[in-house]
Amino acid sequence: MDQNEKRQQNKANRRNSKRTPEGGKFWRNIITVLLVFLLLTSLYSVIVENQSNTPTIPISELVQDINAGKVSAITVQGDTLNIEYAKVGNNAPEKKIAQKETGTALTDTLAHYGVDLTKEKDVKIEIKDESGFLFWVATLLPFFGPLILIVVFLWFMTRQVKGSGMQAFTFGQSKARLISPTDKKQRVTFKDVAGVKEAKQELLEIVDFLKNPKKFLDIGARIPKGILLMGAPGTGKTLLARAVAGEAGVSFFSISGSEFVEMFVGVGASRVRDLFKMAKTAAPAIIFIDEIDAVGRSRGNGVGGGNDEREQTLNQILVEMDGFEPNEKVIVMAATNRPDVLDPALLRPGRFDRRVVLDLPDRADREEILRIHSKEKPFAEDVDLKVIAERTPGFSGADLYSLMNEGAILAARENRTKVAQYDLIRSIEKVMLGPERKSHILSTREKEITAYHEAGHAIIASVLEFADPVHKVSIISRGRAAGYTLKLPLEERKLQSKKEFLDDIAVSLGGYVVEKTIFGDLTTGSSNDLQVSTSLARDMITKYGMSEVIGPVALESSPGLSPTGKMSMERDYSEKTGSEIDKEVLELMNREYARALDVITKHREALNAIAKELIVVETIERAEFEKILVANGIVPKKKVDIKI
Ligand code: ADP
Ligand code: ZN
Ligand code: MG
Repeated sequence: MDQNEKRQQNKANRRNSKRTPEGGKFWRNIITVLLVFLLLTSLYSVIVENQSNTPTIPISELVQDINAGKVSAITVQGDTLNIEYAKVGNNAPEKKIAQKETGTALTDTLAHYGVDLTKEKDVKIEIKDESGFLFWVATLLPFFGPLILIVVFLWFMTRQVKGSGMQAFTFGQSKARLISPTDKKQRVTFKDVAGVKEAKQELLEIVDFLKNPKKFLDIGARIPKGILLMGAPGTGKTLLARAVAGEAGVSFFSISGSEFVEMFVGVGASRVRDLFKMAKTAAPAIIFIDEIDAVGRSRGNGVGGGNDEREQTLNQILVEMDGFEPNEKVIVMAATNRPDVLDPALLRPGRFDRRVVLDLPDRADREEILRIHSKEKPFAEDVDLKVIAERTPGFSGADLYSLMNEGAILAARENRTKVAQYDLIRSIEKVMLGPERKSHILSTREKEITAYHEAGHAIIASVLEFADPVHKVSIISRGRAAGYTLKLPLEERKLQSKKEFLDDIAVSLGGYVVEKTIFGDLTTGSSNDLQVSTSLARDMITKYGMSEVIGPVALESSPGLSPTGKMSMERDYSEKTGSEIDKEVLELMNREYARALDVITKHREALNAIAKELIVVETIERAEFEKILVANGIVPKKKVDIKI
């Protein structure tokens, strides 16, 4: 199964995981409200309980007790009589409560019940003001408690809304992050960026201008206003832009294209205005718009649908760039990995007319990048970054960065204090294919099919002359794939030949052929193989002129800017040619299917041996794999200087 798609998916996952949830604040507020509620209710119940613990007696009993000389004091609080009894022995004085009629005096009531006046004189009677704090709390809480709760709750909610929606109130202001030249911690220079020599060379001129603009202005040179960095994801575009600011020692304002488009109509444009105003005050400065394709998509060609907001933002960027005075020391840099979808208006002279391409690093660059990212990591003796660089063709700077990181994590997890070569080698596969999912259990039947499927790829890759040799075969699922065959080229290649393409297609079909011929049935496991190989076949015919039938024409220019500067997204051939292409693709695939079938039939024993071994051990490394090949009369491909 193919590795590219999985790699892409990993990247997407990595990107997603960067986003942090913002829900924490909300829950904190809810908890605060609940705590306040608990406090109030417990306070209330304490007060109420205090009163209800004392027994209540009728007035008649009180009068009897007074007459018997048991009562020592009465406190009148509204209509409530708090009665204190005389001490009996060492016990604390007993307390009771009685209720009198509303509106009558206590003495009247007592007289009415026939109290003994001489005894009454011994009782200390005290009239208390009703406004005691507890009294009020006790009477009012039942009514106002819920009200207070609601108010508190509403208050928290509004605070919440204000907090998260702060942008809604300050929406004009740009959300650009500023890295000031005095900030030594965040400073990045060209030393921190490995490889991309041509790009650095080009940008050196810009650094020079930002350092001494006078030299250029005196001679009447027009300095580019806009520089567009183009390159695959993770090639270091963002890093390089920061390095330019770091080298020149100027302020660096950065904002990403998607942040412009975020919330309300019209805000994108006003953010742009703010950003440029800020940068002009801080000049000399660099404005960096990351992922500019989010706003700078080609307008009005129907791709992605019309979006007024985006257009206004884009227009505002163009207006601001056009409005630069010639001696304004502000330079706009932008980055994209989709230069093909950009609006041609952005690329006109006077706008982003300097284009700097960042290539994927080659072997030497990769080694250098690894070195940069290994600075704070203690290495074991055996670490050889050259070998790692050799085994990572196609890795971007960001991939290499995460490889180093994974290596360190592996070492730490196994409680070692140094990163070993073995950790780094394991990390290559992790970065390339995603983590192993050992927990994903295949049924016995699935395991058998997957083993044969992968063995099919592996055998064909080993037999066909121009296919990349096999480094590892495994039926442990990684990412979405049930198993994988890891093939690595013997040497770095810039050009690919027709023969290599054909062998690649045959290898991709290996799994399909095996399932069909050996199991007499097909699974969905081949769908990615088919997609990749079919689109390769189509490209061979329509882009590279590799078909005898269609001939030496490029029928689909790669999407994007054609040499004339126009966007060419539509196909530019006739219906008839279209159906010829379809026919040719099918024939090509059929021819490769036959070749794959031929290999499988000839080397059936080797296939069985590999598949059986896979079912038992699940993963076969290169050395082991080649032993099985030799045992079955297949000569392994020439060894290169790649150590395991
Ligand atoms: P891009 O913007 O092109 O997608 P980034 O600049 O965000 O890529 O790169 C992500 C990370 O990968 C960087 O922070 C850096 O750690 C690492 N990296 C990428 N390219 C290089 C390089 N050429 N040299 C050193 N590190 C690199
Ligand atoms: Zn496959
Ligand atoms: Mg970036």
